[in-house]
Amino acid sequence: MSQPPGESLIDLDHLEPVRCNLCGADDTDVLATRSRFDVPLTSVLCRRCGLMYINPRMSSDQYRDFYKTTYRKFIRVKDSVDVIFEKEVLEGKNIFDFSRARLTPGQRVLEIGCGPGGILAAFQSEGMAVHGVEPSLEESAFARARGIPVDTLLLEEFPETGPKFDFVILSRSLNHLADPSAALAKAWTLLGDNKYLFVNLLDFPTQCRFGLVAECAQADHLYMFSPEIARVLLEKTGFEIIKMDVAGDHLSWWDQLFGAPRFHMKILARRVEPKPMERIVFPSPQAIRQKIRRNQQLFFLRRLVRPATYRHWLAVVIKRVFGEGVLTRLKR
Ligand SMILES: [Zn+2]
Repeated sequence: MSQPPGESLIDLDHLEPVRCNLCGADDTDVLATRSRFDVPLTSVLCRRCGLMYINPRMSSDQYRDFYKTTYRKFIRVKDSVDVIFEKEVLEGKNIFDFSRARLTPGQRVLEIGCGPGGILAAFQSEGMAVHGVEPSLEESAFARARGIPVDTLLLEEFPETGPKFDFVILSRSLNHLADPSAALAKAWTLLGDNKYLFVNLLDFPTQCRFGLVAECAQADHLYMFSPEIARVLLEKTGFEIIKMDVAGDHLSWWDQLFGAPRFHMKILARRVEPKPMERIVFPSPQAIRQKIRRNQQLFFLRRLVRPATYRHWLAVVIKRVFGEGVLTRLKR
């Protein structure tokens, strides 16, 4: 069955312009005018701070409905919710190991955008008191059926009253939030003093080593980050990074040319006082742009040297030399 075109799932007639979520400017360079699944959305780079984002984008109302019902269909996830859950449990174990030194059994853990709750299940099995927030009706119900307390809400609807949390998880969700600065500020108010935040997100410039900019940008990733941008965004919202792992930093040349794509960053940060805007030093937008350009060159090189590029011609030559039947026999 053919996939529905991405465009049909997004109302392109009612897009909204936005300003930069990190520095507030409205001064950008265009990175690409199409996004994944050939959806005609433009991604831009802020000329003042380097933050990358989709502009204009889906309206807030449309985006809210998109997450309640359409999101998994749009990104063409073939896994059932059970399989997603099991994958998340493994991810949860990873996050737990990464943050182990800062965790004590019995502490209160909140995950923002918890999906079917696999990450929280891993934390629960380590003796943590877990809670989730998830707008998808199906996935939040799935989590509750597994004994994980989850509210079917957007983060902004989650009440700020109640006891503070010791650990907040934002795994692969910051890219998807309509206002990452506000989301982090909210996480800050929900956390106790000196408590911890875990963030796992895509490193966009490194992602461009494994795909065209127009394929790496996607309608549901309203913002795209780099390690430098993530650091500044966290400083602005009151978090000090104490541990950061950027997958793209330890790729060997072999990985870069032949290995599986790896471009996530894991960050563990402590809640401190927000840094005033006037003291924040923004990364160089030119340097980020340059990195994307260099990584696109590496992507083309990667495509050139990978045997998959030549599979068709290889098959033609084998058929010519050894006859029609040989490929069928080889496949067996
Ligand atoms: Zn900016």
